[in-house]
Amino acid sequence: MADIFDKQKRSKIMGLIRGRNTKPEILVRKFLFANGLRFRLHNKNLAGSPDIVLKKFNTVVFINGCFWHGHQDCSIFKMPKTNKKFWNAKIQRNKERDKRTIDQLEAEGWNVLTVWECQLKTKVRLETLEKLIDNILNKY
Ligand SMILES: [Zn+2]
Repeated sequence: MADIFDKQKRSKIMGLIRGRNTKPEILVRKFLFANGLRFRLHNKNLAGSPDIVLKKFNTVVFINGCFWHGHQDCSIFKMPKTNKKFWNAKIQRNKERDKRTIDQLEAEGWNVLTVWECQLKTKVRLETLEKLIDNILNKY
């Protein structure tokens, strides 16, 4: 059966479903760009395909959804009440994978920064983004 969307539209939709170019990520990108920082996106050659790669600053940034990445002590993350076992195992696996990814990138000499979805809520957004820039520039 023929796809109802053309190729370009389909890949755009699939991208959205996979969580690429999610709103939090766009926020971070715009802020970095507006502050004169240049970067590449989703570098598949690096462990975990980091969302943002600032080669000049030897820094990669992950923008993590609080649920999928199991953010601890977080206002957004709540374990679902049904299928608890399943979600627990799944999120635990994600967290372990994140840890391995960070370990590997750090071993390769990258400065690894993580921005959490909840840190981009309107009230705390600016503070988070300014701190991020500090962390990018200071480790350089
Ligand atoms: Zn969170």
